[in-house]
Amino acid sequence: MAQTKNLVAIFDTTLRDGMQGLEVSYTLEDKLEIAQYLDDMKVDYIEGGFPLSNEKEAAFFQRCRSIHFRHAKISAFGSTRKPGGKASSDAHIRALVEAETPTVVVVGKTWVAHVEKVLGTTAEENLEMIFDSLSYLKSQGREVVFDLEHFFDGYKDNSDYALKVLEAGTQAGADVLVLCDTNGGTLPGQVTSIFESLRAHDLAPLGGHFHNDCGVAVANSLAAVEAGAIHIQGTVNGWGERCGNANLCVIMPNLSLKLGYPTNSGSELEKLTSLSRFVAEKANIIPDKRQPYVGVASFAHKAGQHADVIIKAPHLMEHVDGARVGNSRLVVLSELAGKSTIVEKLKKFGHFEKSDPRVTQLITTLKNLENQGYEFEAAEGSFDLIVRKVLKKYRPLVNLKNYHLEAYKTGNAQSKTVGRMFLQDQEREVMGASVGVGPVETLDGALRDGLEPHYPFLKRLRLIDYRVRVLNPESASAAKVRVFITSTNGTEDWTTVGVNENIIEASWEALVDSFEYFYNNHDEELPFEQQRDL
Ligand SMILES: [Zn+2]
Repeated sequence: MAQTKNLVAIFDTTLRDGMQGLEVSYTLEDKLEIAQYLDDMKVDYIEGGFPLSNEKEAAFFQRCRSIHFRHAKISAFGSTRKPGGKASSDAHIRALVEAETPTVVVVGKTWVAHVEKVLGTTAEENLEMIFDSLSYLKSQGREVVFDLEHFFDGYKDNSDYALKVLEAGTQAGADVLVLCDTNGGTLPGQVTSIFESLRAHDLAPLGGHFHNDCGVAVANSLAAVEAGAIHIQGTVNGWGERCGNANLCVIMPNLSLKLGYPTNSGSELEKLTSLSRFVAEKANIIPDKRQPYVGVASFAHKAGQHADVIIKAPHLMEHVDGARVGNSRLVVLSELAGKSTIVEKLKKFGHFEKSDPRVTQLITTLKNLENQGYEFEAAEGSFDLIVRKVLKKYRPLVNLKNYHLEAYKTGNAQSKTVGRMFLQDQEREVMGASVGVGPVETLDGALRDGLEPHYPFLKRLRLIDYRVRVLNPESASAAKVRVFITSTNGTEDWTTVGVNENIIEASWEALVDSFEYFYNNHDEELPFEQQRDL
């Protein structure tokens, strides 16, 4: 008879353990937005931080009280009471109660060496501290998650004592006992055998918290679930202390799509890729393109012959359909791309044979541009315009006659850029002027100032992302830069690219492409005069 699998709770610690990661930091507003995104993803628990550590952490819990979380339980993190005191009057325990979260996480020690050397107390008193802290928090009506720090090392060193810690947690009423591989040194086989050895004991439900120091945090999490864990902790993108935490962006799809475990977030997996990228944007870290499931490269196909198979039979080349995690297949436009890749990309414009001279012309044009530093994999807006130019389906918005920008700074005040430009469309010459903090804002402002009276649709477009990469940094100030601009009209996003030695010129190119992409892709059938308010 098939066994029914346990519901596995997903516990996110992006905002607590994840913040211990090198170069990871979030503002209070970022934390609140990430928490709402995680709630939307139906993650079960969101660990918000350590309320006693600083005002920002305490403010997070305060702000969370006025937010309606549909699914996730906000959780405050703290440690067991101090040796020799009482839980009810301990500052850490008080801070947990005062955070007013439905769930609290209490970390306690399992490894005798840590109890003696770090806490400076006895193994016996540590058990008292655990029992007293957890039972007090239970008496305050909290759901209690007990994190057993250095559990695996403690268990290997003295399994009898580790078991006493688990029993103290169970007797105190902990809702889940989370076995933590705090230094990330445990391997999947050890996780399996230790979880299995605990089955003989009557304990509260078990969970796992793994770090990636041996590169197996995800494998350890899956091993724990297969051996009975019903609660798994991790972070979005796996960012966290040292080599990071177990990556929830990999654990969640593996549990749902590969192992068939029910999870609440399983129904929301299509939001996973955008969650990953949203958190990356907030952390201001370039997302790992090669990250399983959610990376830009996860479903990218480059070689021409390979691309042929992908178009005909995707299931032969991909382990799952990327759409299930909100990712999309990328048929890469590159020097290696075969004609079938281009033909696939041209579908929007009609049916083209591989032998069509326009296909060859397009490949030559793309190769030339790639050699100059352009990249179209993530700039579908600019790619669209190149195709239109080759197919003679391109409609220019305006031609630049000239622009002039001037940056100024007075004393310690914020520097400003003032600019004006002259533009020519089909009928008239227009002038636009603007003042912005930086040159891109000024260019955008002046372009709109000149064009919006004649093209009202521009009012609905806005820039949502601007990224710059230096292409050949060895040549210092003469380096080329590549600029990507992402724009939206509220329902659709598109990215355009510009390359130049001058960052302003590269930005201008991407900016004009951004407007022209929209202009060329909406209401093409209307006579010219009616196209103005698209
Ligand atoms: Zn940790």
